[in-house]
Amino acid sequence: MSARILIVGGSMGGLFAGVLLARAGFDVTITERSVQGLEGRGAGLVAQREVFDILREVGVEHVAQIGVEARERIYLDRAGTIISRQPTPQTQLSWDVLFRTFRNLVPEGRYQTGRRAVAVVKEADGVRVRYADGGEEHADVLIGADGIGSAVRASVVGPQSLPEYVGYATWRGLVPEREVPPAAAGQLFDRFAFYEMPGSHILGYLVTGPDGSTAVGRRRYNWVWYRRYMRDELDGVLTDIGGERRSFSLAPGQMRPDIVATMRADAARLLPPSFAAAVTAEPRPFIHAIFDYAPAHMVAGRVALMGDAAFVARPHTAMGVAKAAGDAFALRNALRARPDIDAALAAYEAERAPVGRSIVAYGKRLGQSLG
Ligand SMILES: Cc1cc2nc3c(=O)[nH]c(=O)nc-3n(C[C@H](O)[C@H](O)[C@H](O)COP(=O)(O)OP(=O)(O)OC[C@H]3O[C@@H](n4cnc5c(N)ncnc54)[C@H](O)[C@@H]3O)c2cc1C
Repeated sequence: MSARILIVGGSMGGLFAGVLLARAGFDVTITERSVQGLEGRGAGLVAQREVFDILREVGVEHVAQIGVEARERIYLDRAGTIISRQPTPQTQLSWDVLFRTFRNLVPEGRYQTGRRAVAVVKEADGVRVRYADGGEEHADVLIGADGIGSAVRASVVGPQSLPEYVGYATWRGLVPEREVPPAAAGQLFDRFAFYEMPGSHILGYLVTGPDGSTAVGRRRYNWVWYRRYMRDELDGVLTDIGGERRSFSLAPGQMRPDIVATMRADAARLLPPSFAAAVTAEPRPFIHAIFDYAPAHMVAGRVALMGDAAFVARPHTAMGVAKAAGDAFALRNALRARPDIDAALAAYEAERAPVGRSIVAYGKRLGQSLG
């Protein structure tokens, strides 16, 4: 009988591992806390080798063609003049298309939404997971693919081992392109645009629509504004409309109106006019505080961590999805090659822990000017 593998977290990491392991003959179930599903919530990603590899592996190479090309990089000054141009075309793949493609490869019933894992109990022959809905699942192997705020992680590294805030956060917007004022669109669209200031910078580029469309008029303008916050300031920014202090991020619609108003005023005061217009055009900005995290272990007993549940690297690396794909390949290869599950998980950790550590270190170097 094939080993039963339970995956907690149904974003890119959980899907990559789930699809590869099911194809290798394992009995796989993915449980995801989101009730609505994750469709339409992503932006773009710079595909690295592991992403192309996994697309090829499952026979969906065409997904690598679905993206919006930025034909050059431009750097602006405060007045909005283009002070430098680099003819370096780059295509951002659609996170949503990638997500939907892998989600469609998982049979109904094997991807369960609305299931938030709340406790992990290690047993002699496997693992038991308890859910907020009162349910339980038992598996031979548990994979924690539940992201930066992982509930599975504590069962591997203990409750005190947590991601470390690095001193800055990203404001984000994903604006339907028709809502960006024409003058701003004329300067920003079809390009990677940057504006740098002391301790902060903003960048932006077009991504597909939430349905993956690349058609003109259906795309979205994705801007990312890096800003420093002391810890006490961050407490205020990450307190949502209901008064709850969120740990890592606020999703669209969760931010308090006073914080949004301050952000817009700051945009008018600090940014070139085109970026200020793009920021103001976003009705529901969201925010991610930036963290570093490298666990002492990726595996304990029959529990393995992967993706952002394992290592959290800064977004400058643009390697989050590629790292998750690399972890999924390594897990699949190790479990397929070794009938002894404990030996397989040890081999997985030996291969991927050094990779995770080096990506986190690379992110720290790239973020030095900000954090
Ligand atoms: C909605 C969404 C959109 C994203 N868009 C982009 C993008 O456009 N570009 C980009 O480069 N990266 C994006 N990312 C991040 C990117 O997916 C990750 O950095 C990287 O792929 C690692 O993925 P992951 O699966 O390890 O973690 P994540 O993508 O963070 O996924 C973790 C998953 O676990 C679920 N989860 C958390 N806790 C529990 C629990 N207790 N029980 C059950 N499930 C739980 C979460 O709901 C989430 O779906 C996005 C992530 C999400 C969730």
